[in-house]
This record gives sequence, structure tokens and C-alpha cells, in this order.
Amino acid sequence: MRPWWRPSGQCAVCGGWGRDTVCDPCLERFAPPVARCTRCGLRTPPGVTLCGACLAEPPPFDTCVVALDYAFPWDRLIADFKFNGRVELAAVLVRRLLQAVRRDGRPLPTWVLPVPLAPQRLAERGYNQAWELARRAARALGCRAEAQLLLRPLPGPPQAELNLAQRLRNLRGAYLLNPASRRSLHGQHVALVDDVMTTGTTLREAAATLRRAGAARIDAWALARTPAPGD
Ligand SMILES: [Zn+2]
Ligand SMILES: [Zn+2]
Repeated sequence: MRPWWRPSGQCAVCGGWGRDTVCDPCLERFAPPVARCTRCGLRTPPGVTLCGACLAEPPPFDTCVVALDYAFPWDRLIADFKFNGRVELAAVLVRRLLQAVRRDGRPLPTWVLPVPLAPQRLAERGYNQAWELARRAARALGCRAEAQLLLRPLPGPPQAELNLAQRLRNLRGAYLLNPASRRSLHGQHVALVDDVMTTGTTLREAAATLRRAGAARIDAWALARTPAPGD
């Protein structure tokens, strides 16, 4: 199948010529800084740092940084990055994540860990898109990245059809710490990286696993978040 964007040298969104995969005017238009809940990354009214849901029931991670809405044109770029083997798109996408992390301005973690893929999924795809983001982000920020610390040993059923409670039940126990290195997380500040945050159940369950291993502080970093209905 022909990719939907034009050859290199042109912006993947508007087709204009430039150095980058997405040109500066498109970034300004489609990636404006917006107010988000500091615990779950959903959009909030300007000046509001915590949404009602997180006020009532905070997630198991301490903060959440979201770079983009999972919407045009990022949904198409991320789908190509993830499902069509366009792993080189990690370079332009991670810059959005880095910008959001730097804008957030909180202390940086010691460890940057990707949300792991089940082995079968990893074998099919050939790479873990979250790791491609995590390792680039860690290198740019001077943190340590590790793909084999948090593991997902079992294949999970597809999550898309399930509601929130079913998703959580489905993922319970899905992640575990590598027994050889689990002690290295004790008392540590960890960032957990995922490409797309939908309901947040994946990051919640992965963060709960890190918490049980003694991680002192956990930040969730998502490249994109599905906007709440009506946003
Ligand atoms: Zn453009
Ligand atoms: Zn929230």
C-alpha cells in the first residue's frame, strides 16, 4: 500500500517543502500548548491543573505529561509509525514528547521505561514503538532507558472492545518486573512511556506494578492522548 504522505523533504501534513517531517507552521497549528490535567493528561480549562476524576480518584502515577491530542494529523502519523513499519517517524514524534516534558519542567527521572509489548506482538511488529520513543527521549534528557526491566510476559486479548472496568480486569497482573533487576527500581524516580493513552488503563496497571516494586515516584509520559468525549 502506498503511504499517504509524500517523499522525504515534504511536510507529512501540508506537503510544503522543508527540512522536517512536519513543518513549523503545521506544528504551530496542530500541536499548540494546551492546559491539561497534571495527573491524567486530559484537557482542562486554562488554569485548572487537576480534573474532577483525578481529584476523586488519583491514578497510580504521580504526574502525567501528554504531548498531543490523538487526532488529525497525529493519529495518521502515529498509525504509520506503529502499524506500517515507519519506525523513523520516532525522530519527529519524540521531539513533541520532549517539548512537553521540558515545558512541564519537573525534575527528570532516573529511569525511562517503555510500556512493554507482549512477545507475540513484538515479534509481529519487529519493534516496540514505546521503546523507540523512550530510548530517544532518555538519550536527549540524559536519563537511563531500559527495555527489559518491565515485562509483559503474556499476550493480552484486544482491549478495544472493552469498557474501562473490563480493561482493568484484563490487564491485572499483565506486567511484571524482571527478577534480575527489580531491586534497581526501589526508591527510584521512573518515567513510563507510551505512544497513545486511550483510557489510561495500560499506564495505570504498568505504574501499579512499578509501585509494588518500590518505585518512589512515577511519571507517565504519553505522546498522544485520546481526547475526552465532547472535547
Ligand atoms: Zn506542514
Ligand atoms: Zn485528571
